[in-house]
Amino acid sequence: MEAAKKSTRRKAGDAIRPERVNAILDALQKTYPKAVCALDHKSAWQLMVATILSAQCTDVRVNLVTPALFKTFPTPRAMAAASLPELEELIRTTGFFRNKAKSIQGAGRVVTEEFGGKVPQTIDELLRIPGVARKTANVVLGSWFKIADGVVVDTHVLRIAHRLELTKETTPEKVERDLMQILPQSEWIDFTHRIIAHGRAICVARKPRCADCPLEPLCNAEDKTFASH
Ligand code: SF4
Repeated sequence: MEAAKKSTRRKAGDAIRPERVNAILDALQKTYPKAVCALDHKSAWQLMVATILSAQCTDVRVNLVTPALFKTFPTPRAMAAASLPELEELIRTTGFFRNKAKSIQGAGRVVTEEFGGKVPQTIDELLRIPGVARKTANVVLGSWFKIADGVVVDTHVLRIAHRLELTKETTPEKVERDLMQILPQSEWIDFTHRIIAHGRAICVARKPRCADCPLEPLCNAEDKTFASH
């Protein structure tokens, strides 16, 4: 499919002009109006732990592990007091379980000792917690506290931001900075949820389902599998 491979040349800045960005946001809103975080959780603490466990792992697998984990160690204090072998056993199937066990035990300790047992609500404080980098901090702030302090950049956001030419950067930090400049702040939280839903349902990593994609008329990705224009 030659036409699908051909990417229309754009003038610099064309791809991020506000009308195009708004059209992308509208299409995402119409397609995924109710997209939310797919990690099961009942508190900021549970969401933070689940997000730490989701590194290099599917949300489905994390959701299989967290009920027993939170039943056994229901609070940050209990998690801090847990032994590493106990934690490792409970989270083994999420991969990288030794590092993750250290992170969630350390997170329990810092949340208990430095933040009175409550997950803090600023990015600077969140980044002091073991295992928490910008992605996890933005997930907790956005999904739980509804504070739009940044844009979550996970593997789906990274891939699709490139396909939609919203950034040329490759590191999550720089991609986040670009997205924060292009997107209205009021959209930061929903954009993430919708792009992740899109990345799972249609704009998958290998062979994206472009013929079914509501963004297709707006998209000039090099690896499109279908092009109507
Ligand atoms: S047209 Fe294809 S590559 Fe572009 S956003 Fe849609 S699924 Fe992804």
